[in-house]
Amino acid sequence: MRKYKGNCLTSVICNCCGKNLVVEREIVKEGVTRIYAEWDYFSEKDGEIHGFDICEECYDRITSQFKYPVSVVQKTELL
Ligand SMILES: [Zn+2]
Repeated sequence: MRKYKGNCLTSVICNCCGKNLVVEREIVKEGVTRIYAEWDYFSEKDGEIHGFDICEECYDRITSQFKYPVSVVQKTELL
């Protein structure tokens, strides 16, 4: 969950555990990712796009329970 003051990012909170992540000058200084889930016709959520932020600890805990591991691709250029 992201909070803004005007257009400025002021805080990022993990939707899963509620951890308030460190934000300095609009840059998140801890591991966090934004997940988007777009639901299609054959789901119960047709036409909905869900979004949430999840900290690295929650991400690791949840994905470690997957039957098959997540796919990983290295970005060629880090900004
Ligand atoms: Zn978390």
